[in-house]
Amino acid sequence: MSNISSEVQVRCNDMVALRRDLHQHPELGFQEVRTAGIVAERLRALGYTVRTGLGKTGVTGLLQCGRPGKTVLLRADIDALPIQEQTGAPYASRHPGAMHACGHDAHTAMALGAAEILAKDAPSLGGNLVFVFQPAEEVLIGADAMLRAGALEGVSPDAAFAIHVMNRIPVGTIAVRSGPVMTSADKLGITVKGRGGHGANPHSAVDPVVAAAQVISALQTLVSRETHPLKTAVLSITMLKAGTAFNIIPDTVEMTGTLRCFDADLRAALLDSLKRTAEGIASALRCTAAVTNEFLTPAVLNDPAVTALARDVAAEVVGADKVVEWEPLTGSDDVAYFWERVPGCYAFVGSGRTDGTPSAAGHNAKFDIDESCMAIGAEFLVRAARVVLQQR
Ligand SMILES: [Zn+2]
Ligand SMILES: [Zn+2]
Repeated sequence: MSNISSEVQVRCNDMVALRRDLHQHPELGFQEVRTAGIVAERLRALGYTVRTGLGKTGVTGLLQCGRPGKTVLLRADIDALPIQEQTGAPYASRHPGAMHACGHDAHTAMALGAAEILAKDAPSLGGNLVFVFQPAEEVLIGADAMLRAGALEGVSPDAAFAIHVMNRIPVGTIAVRSGPVMTSADKLGITVKGRGGHGANPHSAVDPVVAAAQVISALQTLVSRETHPLKTAVLSITMLKAGTAFNIIPDTVEMTGTLRCFDADLRAALLDSLKRTAEGIASALRCTAAVTNEFLTPAVLNDPAVTALARDVAAEVVGADKVVEWEPLTGSDDVAYFWERVPGCYAFVGSGRTDGTPSAAGHNAKFDIDESCMAIGAEFLVRAARVVLQQR
């Protein structure tokens, strides 16, 4: 059984109602106007000093406690995904083509629940509370936008926490890990250029389709042949665009993809290799290749000391035997930009059903959470923040 305080218990219905309201009104990255409005209004009503419009739709709330002390940052993401919901839930999305399929509705509601409880505690605590409600996590550009807009100006947090629901682990568990937990992400673009012509006369054209096929095959060797077997890298080509008709050799082939790593040096080396391989293979086949990359986010690196604190808090909430040591994920989260500035711990709160029915994974049209995870998440945030604010 989880150890949930009465102050969280009495707010469970409100948190679930808010989560369902947000779930019905999902908003994509940088369009979270309604969501940000609700967040700002609630924080103001609780006495927080609120800043809005940070990196378009980001919101922060600052509260000074009763005496000087440490500063703790709690971050939640607020955006939804471009997915048509298929859960059939009574609180399903009312916005066609948009859905909270990653649980950010629950993150927002849990963080607001924690903000309310901590605001009531503030007179007896020290230091400062900083809440960050971040837009556009799914496209990995919201955190950087908020920081560039000065979201942390005037505050210097000593520790930071964020949670993500996780259907792969059951409700009643919390996964915590020190060090690398999520990879960096680059968006890759490769344009292979040849010379178009008649599909029946390849000898008088320069075929970029065949060259592109070989580029894709050769790129598979970067991880399998050039990367240390014990280091993690993912290189996926995920989109391929070429041609208009069965009898026309096109001029160009466009590809996009993604590179994920934990290690910044490995990332740099693989980007060099990517360019060398694409250009070299294309050139051998009389084509050219132009490679671009957009650096979306660094890897999420959990601070050892803050993670140790989080692990103790998680054990208080769910019991030590329910604190799971989670393997690093090859997904990404731009919370990494905050963790570059503040020692942080990003933890996963189990949200999978325990009644034997399988839970759809995040980013699936049938994704839903077991809402009883929300009390656990809010309890974790409140306790973690309190531990920091009680330090002198
Ligand atoms: Zn997501
Ligand atoms: Zn997410």
